[in-house]
Amino acid sequence: MKLLEIQAETILIPLKQPFTTALRSVDRIENVCVRITTDTEHTGFGGAAPTAIITGETVPSILGALKHIHDSLSGMNIEDAEIIFQKLNACMIGNHSAKAAVDMAVHDLLGKQYGLPLFRLLGGTAGPLETDMTVSMDSPEKMASDSLEKARQGFGILKIKVGKDPALDISRIMAVRKAVGPGIKLRIDANQGWKPKEAVVVINRLSKENADIELIEQPVSAKDYAGMRFVRDRVDIPVIADESVFSATDVLRLIEMQAADGINIKLMKCGGIFNALKIAALAESAGLTCMVGSMMESSLSVTAAAHLACSRSVIGAYDLDAPLFCGINPVRGGIHYRASTITIPDGHGLGISSILS
Ligand code: MG
Repeated sequence: MKLLEIQAETILIPLKQPFTTALRSVDRIENVCVRITTDTEHTGFGGAAPTAIITGETVPSILGALKHIHDSLSGMNIEDAEIIFQKLNACMIGNHSAKAAVDMAVHDLLGKQYGLPLFRLLGGTAGPLETDMTVSMDSPEKMASDSLEKARQGFGILKIKVGKDPALDISRIMAVRKAVGPGIKLRIDANQGWKPKEAVVVINRLSKENADIELIEQPVSAKDYAGMRFVRDRVDIPVIADESVFSATDVLRLIEMQAADGINIKLMKCGGIFNALKIAALAESAGLTCMVGSMMESSLSVTAAAHLACSRSVIGAYDLDAPLFCGINPVRGGIHYRASTITIPDGHGLGISSILS
């Protein structure tokens, strides 16, 4: 099967409710939908989400990168997957989200070519997966009522966004715990918002108050591996690296510095499933846990992330709620949600039959 053309179109997706973290607040997103045409009847689908403040990528940069990638890969055989993925990594520096869209479309085509759902092709099992549900940063009262509403909708794991103000963040988290009671798992994501010493004070205070926190994601600046280690050494809640980890090389350094207990793998950071599997293998070898998450993405690219999540047992936590924030679903097929439970499609490849345009 020959790769003929990489086509791209952008789609504007209004969010059902604003999404607010320590880094940004958005009420709509723009995603790039990718189609790879071949010399067969099969078309491969993929998606990219520009998150400039995390990956440095914008819609124009992704469209430009896709043109360059097209010129590098056009005419190659899809079955030569290893060669394609190595070339995709090497054809330009950075541009991980653009590369992720192409990587998932090639994986989609491999599944179609060999007649298997992608998670099966990768050796995985069908799930289902239980995603957490994100609670945007707001006043303690609003976050408590939002959390209670989400718990009542059937979400048993909530991801609480904090990181702007350490004292207020403690109030936010305690208000949420009080509102939802003891039966709901709470994950905390500070999105780099604290200084290392602040993070230690906040996290230890939460432990002392019996807030019962499952994990804390990215407490300090992405570049501050020493700060991550500082925090990890002084708290008893697992510290998960998100913005700190883009590549397998980042994971190696993190392992060397013993700077995290686990990793949040996102296709938009690492450049696709090919690289994500290397990260998962390294993490497993070093005894780290893995979560699969996403940026603010539609179900097009989150379906690929869900296949990845089903493919390796070291991936034990799922942060794949972004499509639930989206006011429109740009694909037919793909993953299906019933409250927090994600069902993986059993169609070949990603299990997406078309992109609606
Ligand atoms: Mg995060």
